[in-house]
Amino acid sequence: MASPALLMRVVASAYSVAEKAATIVRNVMSTGDLGIVEKAGPNDLQTKADRLVQMSICASLARKFPKVTIIGEEELPTDDVTEDLIEDGHCEEILKKPCPAQYTGIKEEELVIWVDPLDGTKEYTEGLLDHVTVLIGIAYGGKAIAGVINQPYYNYEAGANAVLGRTIWGVLGMGAFGFQLTEAPAGKHIVVTTRSHSSALVNECITALNPDHVIRVGGAGNKIIQLIEGKASAYVFASPGCKKWDTCAPEAILHAVGGKITDIRGNSFQYNKEVKHMNSAGVLATLRNYDYYASRIPNTVKESLVP
Ligand code: AMP
Ligand code: MG
Ligand code: MG
Repeated sequence: MASPALLMRVVASAYSVAEKAATIVRNVMSTGDLGIVEKAGPNDLQTKADRLVQMSICASLARKFPKVTIIGEEELPTDDVTEDLIEDGHCEEILKKPCPAQYTGIKEEELVIWVDPLDGTKEYTEGLLDHVTVLIGIAYGGKAIAGVINQPYYNYEAGANAVLGRTIWGVLGMGAFGFQLTEAPAGKHIVVTTRSHSSALVNECITALNPDHVIRVGGAGNKIIQLIEGKASAYVFASPGCKKWDTCAPEAILHAVGGKITDIRGNSFQYNKEVKHMNSAGVLATLRNYDYYASRIPNTVKESLVP
């Protein structure tokens, strides 16, 4: 049999790298010393877990795929990474799956990997542990085509017998795995949005949608999970703040199961390596009924957000 396509090898490795990342996230928390640093301000934090996980993911993937461009959230000194942070395994089950035909010829230098080592840092520091995800998004031709989302504390309140943590992954044209795709309650409009980065505009936009219910939780990865597991019908964030590493992996997984994500004005996100990191015009995402929500975003809100 021919060796597996590059894309499948990258996804299979990213899966194992994300599981190692989850172990680091849990280990740092269990030491009790989070090593919190403020970046832009008190709502923009970095912990020891953000730092170690980014080093682990970026160094592990760069060692296997040296020509791939890897862009991580954290600005870190380029010190040598210690061997204990390196993961060289891969998920055998992913390698066995056929690569979608349109991606079989991809070369290393054509891939861009967007890494959010710990999404939902604010919530991590506050003990809202299941809001936290590790995001590895894979882009080709400016499009998010594959992604891995690890949720290190999935099931953490489900009792000692429950398996802690899970890894969700997906590839466009193949689907997404590691969770049960569930529709949101029919006829209900449940909006999920930020918990710790609200603003007058964020709230004005949600009010205009007249939802039956609003869920406020941390993390872009976590909010996409709310959509694909039927907890919410739309993710609405009318504000700058979210970056390309927040949306790349979630976008690939959402699109792989037929959903849609854009900025608040309806523009799709680009993920080529030269792109601006900030998603300045916010986020609108749904599994179904994208047009219903898009058509109800007020023009005043759209005009306040410049891409
Ligand atoms: P949230 O929904 O507030 O958890 O935000 C989703 C992602 O975007 C997280 O990675 C946040 O850190 C990031 N984010 C959103 N708004 C801001 C902001 N105002 N400042 C810094 N990061 C933000
Ligand atoms: Mg993030
Ligand atoms: Mg982060």
